[in-house]
Amino acid sequence: TLRTFIEQGNDLMTYLITLVMKMAPLGAFALIASAVGSQGFDSLKAMGLYMGVVILSLIVHSVLTYGSTVSLLGKMNPFFFFRKFAPVMLFAFSTSSSNATLPVAMQTAQKELKVPRSVSSFVQPLGATINMDGTAIMQGVATVFIAQVYAVDLTPGQLATVVLTAVLASVGTAGVPGVGLVMLTMVLQSVNLPVEGIALIIGVDRLLDMMRTAVNITGDAACAVIVSKSEEDNLKEGKETDERYA
Ligand code: ASP
Repeated sequence: TLRTFIEQGNDLMTYLITLVMKMAPLGAFALIASAVGSQGFDSLKAMGLYMGVVILSLIVHSVLTYGSTVSLLGKMNPFFFFRKFAPVMLFAFSTSSSNATLPVAMQTAQKELKVPRSVSSFVQPLGATINMDGTAIMQGVATVFIAQVYAVDLTPGQLATVVLTAVLASVGTAGVPGVGLVMLTMVLQSVNLPVEGIALIIGVDRLLDMMRTAVNITGDAACAVIVSKSEEDNLKEGKETDERYA
């Protein structure tokens, strides 16, 4: 009975979300039209800049953070890593869902990146659920953007709060399309910004969602490579010890 109740609750939520998502384009169009109507095309320029900053941050994060950690901690050539993982990034890009990409990501990590199954099947599902760097980056940039639109000056203390809550909100974000935007409400509320501000970026979020999902899933694979390397090292040390005592 409990299972049926939960399943029906799930069906109801899915139905409601689908309904809202169907209406969302109309709502977003109306909000963007009123923003352009009142502030002219400058508001579109600002939105373009917002997108540019998010995309640039995602690229810099992928190349610098993942590239350097994979190479320094995982002892793997970052070019090899990105080349082998590129089809998965493309899959994540087209589905906008970490969860939907998970099976392909695990298969690629195990077959192409030679991550042991035991490591991959623990690290990657966990990562797809809680490790969302791309989402945290978008939420941080979006909060600063919305603050600027509302002419609110964020103090350094508030900026630190944004960083902290964006990380927490990204942990709570489900690996399905668009949820990062819903969780953004938590970040906005933490610094007393109006939640309606989300409407300003909803129109361009689909594209950004595609890009951040690719980053999210790549981060999980990078972690899997690093953990697999450290496990391998531990095993080697263990073997040496065994031999010494044999
Ligand atoms: N679509 C993202 C993911 O699945 C989550 C989000 O940021 O909306 O990783």
